[in-house]
Amino acid sequence: MSMSHDATSHDARANTFPCVCGARMRIIESRPCVVSGERGMRRRRRCMSCGNRITTYEVEETRAFDVRALHVALRAIRGQLDILIGDVERQEKNDALR
Ligand SMILES: [Zn+2]
Repeated sequence: MSMSHDATSHDARANTFPCVCGARMRIIESRPCVVSGERGMRRRRRCMSCGNRITTYEVEETRAFDVRALHVALRAIRGQLDILIGDVERQEKNDALR
């Protein structure tokens, strides 16, 4: 159970979800599903080495995380822009006074 939850945290990581034998598992089926009220993906995987099959349920947390990270980054950029604009305006005033 905790293994399939780990697989939900990152799509890139989920796509290379390893088998218990250590080999990579191939996704044999992906379909949208709802996991505890959130949109997710149900994926059936088969090990390319030992043939073990598992089903994982992945919640699309990555998008929500990306939006938050983007928001934080944009706010930081806006702060930097305000400083730069202030510098440019001060420079322009100084030039005008010369
Ligand atoms: Zn295996």
